[in-house]
Amino acid sequence: MKFTPAKPPLTGETLDSLTERLRAQGEPAFRAKQILDWLYKKRVRSWDEMSNLSKPLRTWLAGTFELMPATLVLNKQSEDVTDKLLLGLGDRSLIETVIIRVPQEGVGVEHSRKTICISTQVGCAMGCVFCASGLAGLKRDLSAGEIVAQLLQVCYREDARTPRARMELASFDNIVVMGMGEPLANYDATILALTILNAEWGLGFGARRITISTSGLVPKILKLAEEKLGFRLAISLHGATDEVREKIMPVNKAFPLAKLIPAVQAFNEKHGRMVTLEFILIEDVNDMLPQAEKLRDIARDLHAHVNLIPYNTVEGLPWKRPSLTRQERFADVLRAARISVTLRREKGHDIDAACGQLRLKTELDREGAVAAAVPVA
Ligand code: SAH
Ligand code: SF4
Repeated sequence: MKFTPAKPPLTGETLDSLTERLRAQGEPAFRAKQILDWLYKKRVRSWDEMSNLSKPLRTWLAGTFELMPATLVLNKQSEDVTDKLLLGLGDRSLIETVIIRVPQEGVGVEHSRKTICISTQVGCAMGCVFCASGLAGLKRDLSAGEIVAQLLQVCYREDARTPRARMELASFDNIVVMGMGEPLANYDATILALTILNAEWGLGFGARRITISTSGLVPKILKLAEEKLGFRLAISLHGATDEVREKIMPVNKAFPLAKLIPAVQAFNEKHGRMVTLEFILIEDVNDMLPQAEKLRDIARDLHAHVNLIPYNTVEGLPWKRPSLTRQERFADVLRAARISVTLRREKGHDIDAACGQLRLKTELDREGAVAAAVPVA
């Protein structure tokens, strides 16, 4: 299903497309840059604050575009480390955006490094058996404007906490496209959104600080390798053999390891940057030592970094997180081979941080006619 809003979001326009629209209104070309400055640099939240535009132009803009296509429905915070924004869209769909703060030694939490995890779809069609995002299938793709809006919402929130001096810059350090949805199944909107975020007239955010995570859509990985902007790539591997991967990720049938690994290699050759292999550890499914050994071999061949993620339990699903000892034993196999590996302590476990879980809970509450989310903005 596609959602066509009454007015397209301003966050989905490029400098060129906005210039064209304004030119048709008899406005000079420099207006587009002024408007995008208000949106991305000064981050005003109403048309009336765009004080160097004439009143008639502001009225035309308000009748033509949605300034912000996402509203903050709920904000859940965990120990000041993870901040989860539940955003409502024009058709009442809900999406999640997570701010992960990594505190730096000797400075307050407001100066922590921030990674933002964004969504690209409402739900997901890929059907990975462990994942909350995919449980109810795909509802719809997000538009580029809705993807960009998530980052602006984060900026609004962070600007309120940080000194004005930082206002012109993006209020975060990294973007990971690891929220709800399969980004490469919504390829064009995702790339357009990231291009807008990267543009100097947009947030001016470096492509090398943006990581796209995919469950392994091989043709799209090859396409991504050809993009001008050098985004980083993460592969959700989760199984080091076809036998294990196929059990938990249906995508492996169409794109088994024999196709996926060469595609990652091809991406490597184009970009020369380390790819990350994501590996969720699920008890008795993929946390056995032979899996660790196979993963080690794949990572070595691909010169990849391995991110081990202890599974976040999902209500209603049978999968479990292995014990700390089992997690460490698995990681040790990789460490012994000098593979670059991180064993992530899942941040925000207590606020349903795993992909899709807060939305799932809120939708279930909605269905149960329980007062769902309380609007906060
Ligand atoms: N669809 C893309 C990006 C979104 S999922 C992909 O699959 O890569 C982002 C990451 O969260 C993936 O690695 C996914 O496997 C992982 N994930 C999903 N459910 C999880 C859970 N319950 N616990 C831990 N990680 C999970
Ligand atoms: Fe979709 Fe990624 Fe979840 Fe798989 S892990 S269902 S691809 S969001």
